[in-house]
Amino acid sequence: MSETRLLEVPIAGMDCAECTEHVRHAIAALPGVVSVDVFLASEKASIRLDPAQVSRDAIRDAVEGAGYRVAPASASAVEASGRTLTRQLGLLLAALFGAVLFVAVVGEGLGVFERVTELVPWPVWLALVLIAGYPIFRNVIRATLHRQIISHTLMTIGVLAAIAVGQWVTALVVVFFMRVGDAVERFTADRARRSLKSLTALAPRTARVDRDGAEIDLPIDQLRPDDIVIVRPGEQIPADGEVLDGQATVDQAAITGESMPVEAGPGSRVYAATFARLGHLRVHVTHAGADTTFGRVVQQVEEAEANRADIQRTADRFSTYFLPIVLGIAALTFLLSRDPLATAAVLVVACSCSIALATPIAVLASVGAAAKHGLLIKGGRYLELLDRADVVLVDKTGTVTLGKPQITDIVSVSNFQLPASEAVTGNSKPEADLLRLAASAERYSEHPLAEAVRASARERGLVLAEPRDFVAAPGVGVRAMVDGLAVAVGSRRLVQDLADSGEVQGLSRLEAQGKTLLFVTLDGQLAGVLAAADTRRTEVPAALAELRMLGIRHIELLTGDNEQAANALASELGVPCRANLLPEDKIRIVKEYQAQGHTVVMVGDGVNDAPALAQADVGIAMAAAGSAVAIEASHVALMRDDWTLVPEAVRIAHRTMRVVRMNLGLTGVYNVVGLTLAAFGILPPILAAAAQSLPDLGILGNSSRLLRQK
Ligand code: ADP
Ligand code: MG
Repeated sequence: MSETRLLEVPIAGMDCAECTEHVRHAIAALPGVVSVDVFLASEKASIRLDPAQVSRDAIRDAVEGAGYRVAPASASAVEASGRTLTRQLGLLLAALFGAVLFVAVVGEGLGVFERVTELVPWPVWLALVLIAGYPIFRNVIRATLHRQIISHTLMTIGVLAAIAVGQWVTALVVVFFMRVGDAVERFTADRARRSLKSLTALAPRTARVDRDGAEIDLPIDQLRPDDIVIVRPGEQIPADGEVLDGQATVDQAAITGESMPVEAGPGSRVYAATFARLGHLRVHVTHAGADTTFGRVVQQVEEAEANRADIQRTADRFSTYFLPIVLGIAALTFLLSRDPLATAAVLVVACSCSIALATPIAVLASVGAAAKHGLLIKGGRYLELLDRADVVLVDKTGTVTLGKPQITDIVSVSNFQLPASEAVTGNSKPEADLLRLAASAERYSEHPLAEAVRASARERGLVLAEPRDFVAAPGVGVRAMVDGLAVAVGSRRLVQDLADSGEVQGLSRLEAQGKTLLFVTLDGQLAGVLAAADTRRTEVPAALAELRMLGIRHIELLTGDNEQAANALASELGVPCRANLLPEDKIRIVKEYQAQGHTVVMVGDGVNDAPALAQADVGIAMAAAGSAVAIEASHVALMRDDWTLVPEAVRIAHRTMRVVRMNLGLTGVYNVVGLTLAAFGILPPILAAAAQSLPDLGILGNSSRLLRQK
């Protein structure tokens, strides 16, 4: 098996959701293509292929064969001006739509058309129809040659039917409305792209780099990690990095959606696409381009389309049955009524593109709007699951608490004697020794508790030793060799198996205070305990109350911490809890709820809880800005450390699914009513053609509401 590669190809000309399917099929049919995803919003195809078998030219030919174009890589400016033109054209056509509709109705009533038809010779009519409908007929013929059915195929058959019975005016009006419908669809697809476009518009374009003392401006794609960039007041920070020197207030709205600026100084982390307001910064670049937090958000939003909601899959499947059904109804109409006009009307009134468009338009609008508010939702699938969710499981450390614990007590075992090698360090107090050993063992752990232990040692001016054989056991603690001693720091599990665990003075008092206890063992013997306390995030109770109002029936706290610490917090929040859990226990609990038929949301910190987040139907990661792991592991990532975003995500999901259902209902009702009226000869083909764009307009109006949501 040869190596495969991922290729991204920009595609132009996709104006409806069906179109993505056509492009997908055309590319997938090429030998050597492993998989294809085509995105309406970002107008691209992401293709996994064997480069030895597929060339770029072959892809270009396939795309063009299906009636679309491979766009040049950076055509955004040209595209944008083309867009406004399309938009104006759309408005113009919509105005004409009303006028012609009026004339059509009146004309039909007065029987004017018969006379007009007689006056003009048929070749002139034919020429008019062909000229007006050229782009549509070309697409239909091309698609037919590729054995594809597009929504215009049905209408083209309708036009032929009208011509066959000498209804030239009808044929012309149908063609006209096909063009109007096209414009409406293009406009609708454009709206869906808009939220993504306004997100990518925030991307930095250039960077001022310090090269050996000289400042040079570089295009953003030439910036590399370890470059030093200079940011002046009012300028955009071009990459993720750490401030070396300088001081500035940074507006992080592009990432977090929060317009309150934050202070940044030496050592602060700053993010690409944010702005330095007052002050200068010199920043050491850690991540550039697509690897930045902003780059990841944009990529996830672009690809959110790939995570289709089930409801969309059902709709997509239905639209493949749609054509045979409509052809069947048309055939039946003709057989029963012998009325060619009614038959033509049936073919013209059916509208399948809006079925395909109903879900993606709403989902894209929501995902894009949410991303700008610091809420990254990775696709329609998760909106649908959030809409259904009834159980929310919440991690404690770093999720309900700030994740910035402080060591409050250090108690060494009263009868514990440090081994001789340690004791020689001088007349040090046993507490300081204990802390120094623990902090040394924790030196390379990323856990918030480890940071607390290190901070406490730093405050006392203790110098840490270099640990060897460091092992971290998630949900338990760490082990390492420090100064020849086997040091372990962690939960009660560490000491459970110790036959002889010494007495710790006041242990029960610390437990009763709801503190997190870190047991420290030296060479397999309990040496002491560090107690840590963390502050609860203030906005949690209100957020949980809101979740309940939004229909979440069960909320539970899951933690690896001890029973008392868990209970103290849980009773404050008024939720049940389970303590002493290992990461695999959390996964098991998620699975248990799922097995009972619940749709489970897990809220965690994204790093320690990544496996449970992945197992949940919807995994929500707190504090995901700056953490590639958290963004990858979760389905919904909160770019801002703010619990109010959790109920907000559920609310957005409710609203989106309501719009999706309305969109699908609208299309369904339209088709049933339209087909019935047409089949019984009540709806003349001219009006049937005019009615075509109604469901698209409805979807457009309905879904635009989601763009505006706060
Ligand atoms: P939570 O489930 O509340 O987020 P974790 O699963 O991250 O907590 O950790 C559970 C327990 O494991 C902690 O309360 C602590 O006792 C212990 N622990 C985990 N990692 C460490 C570490 N690096 N150092 C010390 N103790 C740790
Ligand atoms: Mg945690």
